[in-house]
Amino acid sequence: MNQHSSKRTTVDVTIIGAGPAGAVAAALLRKTGRSVLVLERQHFPRFSIGESLLPQSMAYLEEAGMLQAVVEAGFQYKNGAHFVYRDQSSSFDFRDKHSPGWGTTYQVERAVFDDILIRCAAEQGADVRFGHTVRAVHTGLTGLMPLVDVVDEADHAYQIEARFVLDASGFGRVLPRLLNLESPTRMPTRAALFTHVRDGIPVDASDRNKICIATHPERRDVWFWMIPLAGGRSSVGCVAEASFLDVPEAERDATLRALIQQEPTLNRLIGGAPFVMPVRHIGGYAANVERLHGPGYALLGNAGEFLDPVFSSGVTIALRSAHLAAHTLNRQLDGAAVDWSADYDVPLRKGIDTFRAFVERWYSGELQDIIYHPDQTSIRRMITAVLAGYAWDESNPYVADPVRRLTALHQVCVQR
Ligand code: FAD
Repeated sequence: MNQHSSKRTTVDVTIIGAGPAGAVAAALLRKTGRSVLVLERQHFPRFSIGESLLPQSMAYLEEAGMLQAVVEAGFQYKNGAHFVYRDQSSSFDFRDKHSPGWGTTYQVERAVFDDILIRCAAEQGADVRFGHTVRAVHTGLTGLMPLVDVVDEADHAYQIEARFVLDASGFGRVLPRLLNLESPTRMPTRAALFTHVRDGIPVDASDRNKICIATHPERRDVWFWMIPLAGGRSSVGCVAEASFLDVPEAERDATLRALIQQEPTLNRLIGGAPFVMPVRHIGGYAANVERLHGPGYALLGNAGEFLDPVFSSGVTIALRSAHLAAHTLNRQLDGAAVDWSADYDVPLRKGIDTFRAFVERWYSGELQDIIYHPDQTSIRRMITAVLAGYAWDESNPYVADPVRRLTALHQVCVQR
């Protein structure tokens, strides 16, 4: 997968980054016969955070011809989410939801998952170059195609000419930085401390098929994830305002251990479980851009907007962006007139805005009141659909008008 020529080559599409967004976009473009070059600065398999998928993402994996490989990998099955706060708990089963489509998915080790996806894209004919870093992109040059400056690990620099560039560089945010596209995010600066544990959880002690989201008993804005993985491991992390988790590297293990032990459910399940990798820290991950496209380029996944990890929406948004961008680009390369704003930016942001309404109301506490409310109504199937990733299905009132609906529902919940 790593051969390349030293003279300038021209391809239909250059994709920056081989994560889920880049891999799925590459496969969908190969299906229509486009020449696709994927440039990835790291070597796979490589660690990545974001291990709990949403059922909506399965449709894009299926469309990209990757589903069989994912199913055969033997990842931990997932059918819902379990929320815990003090002595309250609430389980959502993604199979019982308003929107049609997949109701189950997986909890994955991203190193393995991402490697599977990009290998599928390569098998479908994408030229994937690991250890090749994009340093600059020249777009909007009158009469010229975008030019991409690349350097490999032998410090050999070369240029690629592409009819179009898709930036799927994730938190690398190559084009937003190079083209000054960054815009302020409404999300406060939060951070996470996380690791993997050898969980040793007895079979009947908890439901491995669900992500567990636990709120800190004393601080409603601090929450934990526990994502059971295949092979007796779980991913565990704590998310809080950045200053709360700002500890020296040498104290991260002890800090995360102490926080886990402050939450009764996690303490019971994994309070003493051995960490199988050093605790990592990531902060300031929320990001936004002025626009998701420009002359000769579009931004996919985290290279565009990233909100917050609480509803595990990142990979789903990344795959949805790959799906929308590949279809728009295929029509453009066929010579059709496309409107990137109407065909890509606006529809992608519709679902992101749904998740944003949910995320903001999670941190304000309103959504937590709704989640733990004892009344089980048909509205729960609508909320479940969004939690399962169906954030673009406007037949769901909580997608069509999430802010108004959630505000009204919260008022009903607190009055009862
Ligand atoms: P990535 O997966 O980040 O891939 C980008 C690739 O681009 C990388 O491989 C990188 O090496 C490459 N790259 C970067 N710069 C360059 C360059 N200059 N040249 C070449 N290559 C480059 N999402 C979920 O769905 N579920 C979760 O449970 C979840 N939990 C999360 C927890 C935390 C704490 C955080 C911060 C995020 C979480 N996410 C989760 C979000 C998830 O990690 C991302 O949304 C997802 O990985 C985005 O995929 P992507 O393809 O856009 O980018």
